[in-house]
Amino acid sequence: MKGMTKRELQITDPHQIQKILDTASVLYLGLCANNEPYVVPMNYGYTMEEGKLTLYLHSAVKGKKLDMIRENPNVFFALDCDRKPFEGKVACQYGLSYSSVMGQGTACIVDDVEEKKKAMSVLMKTQTEKDFAFEDRLVSIVAVIRIDVSEYTAKHRPIPEKMR
Ligand SMILES: Cc1cc2nc3c(=O)[nH]c(=O)nc-3n(C[C@H](O)[C@H](O)[C@H](O)COP(=O)(O)OP(=O)(O)OC[C@H]3O[C@@H](n4cnc5c(N)ncnc54)[C@H](O)[C@@H]3O)c2cc1C
Repeated sequence: MKGMTKRELQITDPHQIQKILDTASVLYLGLCANNEPYVVPMNYGYTMEEGKLTLYLHSAVKGKKLDMIRENPNVFFALDCDRKPFEGKVACQYGLSYSSVMGQGTACIVDDVEEKKKAMSVLMKTQTEKDFAFEDRLVSIVAVIRIDVSEYTAKHRPIPEKMR
């Protein structure tokens, strides 16, 4: 992945990155199959183990995004939080403060029932901060997608000093 142009805005502190992942709640999943691009908003859960980020998504068992993942499992994602608009005297001084994470990885549709149950618990924990357990029956009616993230970057754009 190409390095960030405004390096001074890049976040590398794992705790700050996890805070963004805990807060954003929706990611935009980018797919491409047969030269057709597609972006779909989805809720997610995540685990971060020794710097390795894994994302879990759930969906209905049929649909375009699943067909595209089967065709090409290479995906990109973007998520953001803490959007705060700021104003200026002239149009070009207006802007938006935000925190975001973007990355790429390989998606796979999970078939193993135990992994699906774990993935749904992780997703609910990220989304609600609560612990949920899932029965086999419940996970049989949803598709679960795991994204093994190979590379990611995080960025924070603050409100400029003179605008505060
Ligand atoms: C904030 C948010 C969170 C969401 N969270 C989830 C989630 O966790 N899991 C989940 O499965 N879905 C979620 N959705 C819905 C998701 O964006 C898709 O609509 C849904 O997953 C169906 O996608 P699909 O590729 O199977 O589309 P299909 O049902 O196969 O339909 C494909 C066609 O419908 C159009 N389409 C699909 N989705 C949308 C959309 N959102 N808006 C406008 N047009 C659309 C596409 O352009 C495409 O041509 C969320 C949507 C939003 C806005």
